[in-house]
Amino acid sequence: MIQKFALILLVMLVLSACVGTQSMLVEDQPLKGINITIDPGHGATQAYDSSRIGQTGEREEWINLRVAKILSRKLSLAGANVLMTRTKDRDVSLGGRASMAIRHHSDLFVSIHHNSSANDPSIDLPIVYFYGSGDMNPASVDFAKILIDSMRAEMAFQQQQAGAVYSDHLIYSSGTSVLRNTIDDMPGVIGEGGFFTNPSGEGRLKSKAYNKLEAEIYYKAILEYFDRGTPSAICLLPDSLKYVDLLRSIEFELDDGFGNTFFIENSFKVLQGGVQIQSRWDSNSGILTATPNSSLEKSVSFQVFARNLQGNAIHPIPFTFLTKAGYEWYSHETWSTAFNEAEFLFSQAVQNNEVDILDSALHLYQLSLELQIAHPKARIAEEKILELLMMKQVLIEDDLSDKVKAQQSRIREYYPN
Ligand SMILES: [Zn+2]
Repeated sequence: MIQKFALILLVMLVLSACVGTQSMLVEDQPLKGINITIDPGHGATQAYDSSRIGQTGEREEWINLRVAKILSRKLSLAGANVLMTRTKDRDVSLGGRASMAIRHHSDLFVSIHHNSSANDPSIDLPIVYFYGSGDMNPASVDFAKILIDSMRAEMAFQQQQAGAVYSDHLIYSSGTSVLRNTIDDMPGVIGEGGFFTNPSGEGRLKSKAYNKLEAEIYYKAILEYFDRGTPSAICLLPDSLKYVDLLRSIEFELDDGFGNTFFIENSFKVLQGGVQIQSRWDSNSGILTATPNSSLEKSVSFQVFARNLQGNAIHPIPFTFLTKAGYEWYSHETWSTAFNEAEFLFSQAVQNNEVDILDSALHLYQLSLELQIAHPKARIAEEKILELLMMKQVLIEDDLSDKVKAQQSRIREYYPN
């Protein structure tokens, strides 16, 4: 009896231990299933770059890598699938970093940098950059704000209150390469945790303990961001569709990040080619229904915006589809079918003087040349393009003389008699 009781007790102990371990696992792995790319900026620039260095010889790429490595370990322990774009002091191309992050299907891209000033060593503050305009990139801004707040609260800077979240368009008019090339797939930021050109900043950034603190701040910001849930939208068009019918409404299914449909009222917005179109939210079904605008473009792209009750925005990944015009355009597989249809439309355009027909003919002659360089009727196509441009100029009473001149010299230079 005692033995049996002992056995039951043992079984209960094992069971409770199992349950205990399981719940421990969930609590210890708050980032389970989440893909994160950590990008330690630069690498192996010592031989040729004398700007990325502090007064006592500490280099930016070394600090970036130390912080990134500590952060990466912490994230992995929390269950995240972490990709580091480099783990050694070596150079990786900017394009390579972005494509790695895309291949990793990242939910977040975090590029770790430290700042320098060529002419003012007194500057020492944190900056977090996002791509483009804040309105168009709300999820990146959400994360950037969490990060800058804890950087300012917990790290030491000479100008503690001056740190801020900024657009990367302040650095380059077209933004930074890594953020520009990942924006269509994931939210992302470039964090600049202080200035190594500031003597006391460099002193701090050299210390492993301070690197650890900085990594901890990134880690906590990432935890908080994902804890708020990452809301998402999917487009309910069938995959088999050849092109999108812009005469019909288009539906998006939204998730607030917790498998529910709780969003902030009036936070819904659908853009078509960057322009807001009419949309209607149904909280019961979780469906956002939008009314597209007609379009003469070959493709259209839609972006969905909404914010969940925890304050996180959907990252507005563009849904891009061929239009009917685009489908017809791309359905020409050989230069000759494109050229023959162009010839047919050319004769129509001459008879009818209609700009639409004229444009189609123009496009198809160009397509024939794109499909096959120097096809047997290439010169004829180039001359017809010139003729159509001149006809169009008369028809729309617009100045196309630059295009006409460019086409004339193209024929003269590339197709000498
Ligand atoms: Zn940098």
